[in-house]
Amino acid sequence: MADVVVLGAGVSGHTAALHLSRLLPKGNTVTVVSPNADWNWIPSNIWVGVGKMPAKSVLFPLEPVYRKKRIRFLQAAATAIWPQGDDQSGRPSVDVVHTGSGRQGETERVGYDYLINATGPQLRFHMTSGLGPDEGHTVSVCTASHAVEAAEQLKATIERLKAGEPQTLVVGMGHGTCTCEGAAFEYVFNVDHELREAGVRDRARLVYLTNEAALGDFGVDGMTFEERGFQTTSELWTGSLFRERGVEAILGAHVNAVEEGVIRYETLDGEGHTLDFDFAMLLPPFGGVGLTAYDRGGADITEELFAPSGFMKVDADYTPKPYEEWRAEDWPKTYQAVGYDNIWAVGIAFAPPHQISRPRTSANGTLIAPAPPRTGMPSGVMGKTAALSIVDRIKHGSAAPNHEASMADMGAACVASAGAGLRTGSAAAMTMMPVVPDYSRYPTGRDLKDTRGEIGLGGHWVKLMLHHLFLHKAKGRLGWQFIPE
Ligand SMILES: Cc1cc2nc3c(=O)[nH]c(=O)nc-3n(C[C@H](O)[C@H](O)[C@H](O)COP(=O)(O)OP(=O)(O)OC[C@H]3O[C@@H](n4cnc5c(N)ncnc54)[C@H](O)[C@@H]3O)c2cc1C
Repeated sequence: MADVVVLGAGVSGHTAALHLSRLLPKGNTVTVVSPNADWNWIPSNIWVGVGKMPAKSVLFPLEPVYRKKRIRFLQAAATAIWPQGDDQSGRPSVDVVHTGSGRQGETERVGYDYLINATGPQLRFHMTSGLGPDEGHTVSVCTASHAVEAAEQLKATIERLKAGEPQTLVVGMGHGTCTCEGAAFEYVFNVDHELREAGVRDRARLVYLTNEAALGDFGVDGMTFEERGFQTTSELWTGSLFRERGVEAILGAHVNAVEEGVIRYETLDGEGHTLDFDFAMLLPPFGGVGLTAYDRGGADITEELFAPSGFMKVDADYTPKPYEEWRAEDWPKTYQAVGYDNIWAVGIAFAPPHQISRPRTSANGTLIAPAPPRTGMPSGVMGKTAALSIVDRIKHGSAAPNHEASMADMGAACVASAGAGLRTGSAAAMTMMPVVPDYSRYPTGRDLKDTRGEIGLGGHWVKLMLHHLFLHKAKGRLGWQFIPE
């Protein structure tokens, strides 16, 4: 009988926990450690962030779901891993600090036989002075509560536009090393739609400020699409969408600082610029959540388990190489941690081996390099993959092989859908296969059959359907396991 502990109840951790509870024989335990009481379907935060959806439509309490599935839920944040046990016991364990009401601040050491680290990103607003909703001057859509505040500020901006005041709205990346450009692209598309619906688009300047050197890069070095035998690029596709909607793009930008109403940024040519704004939604750079690790004697072994970014090192090839020499097979397949065959890191929590988008430095030596995205679908697949490996180990012994799922074999989707309802929405939908380009298999790095960019009502339906299907799945309702990750 084994105890499995999952750190994080987001897309990857929650998926792992549901599959573990479904597949593990009685007597084994599954414990989820996560600081928030609610689950959040993050992709729909975009709609919350423009006021199209209330926060309650993207959140639900985890405790009743876990009670039904016989999963133990500790509302707590993990702080440290003892993969060899501590001086009292040889049992591997994790330190947690409780965050739930009644136990706030209480610490506990939780033993495990198998551990999944699915702690997602730390939102590193502090890396850019003045960035972010708490201490800065910009809003975010990374959490449901951030998105509610973004919607309020957007509404106030639209009111000022209605009163005849011209306004500048900026959407994009708050640092040169940000990832998740797809989310900013979705948000700018939605903001444009809201401004048009309110009849104030002509008075608004809408700017997309990004660390991407070219439009349509999305942190994955862009995509090639094929339409009736003709090839085009995601750069042309995105450029056309922006031109049609009058969205200005500022490319290759690293935001140095945000002050009240002013963004200070540097571009790849080394020039410094300022941009005055009335409303800005800028995403923060991501890092690991800051877990530490100790050996049995209490010596700090954090560097053995984690990359400097704070993400956990797994079965990837981390050998430093020039960008041109990186290969698809350098990407991890099993997500097993380095040195410990009972720990896995999935979703955003694992350390990518290298950039997918070509990293660049400005003429001043500032790194301006979109980090590799680890989007929802791959995160869910990784969570399931780790869960299946653990189930096989428990059922068939330690020789059972790991399950595999490389991002060089997995697809991803980004659907920028604006509007609500079944007849009035419109979406710019991109799918790519695989996420990590493999030039040894495909001349353009990706399978042209499954790498597409489309615009229209169909994509909007897909996004609405995904919203409802994924909430159904995450609630563990009838047939949830048949809905793909
Ligand atoms: C605005 C936005 C829109 C997006 N839209 C899309 C989209 O359209 N399509 C798509 O595929 N992807 C999209 N993504 C990306 C997608 O949300 C992520 O890929 C996905 O959530 C990653 O899953 P994860 O499990 O790694 O992290 P998360 O889902 O962020 O989960 C991390 C979990 O760990 C918990 N945690 C944090 N710290 C600790 C700790 N110390 N101990 C224990 N638990 C901890 C968190 O509370 C959370 O429960 C979007 C992202 C954003 C921000």
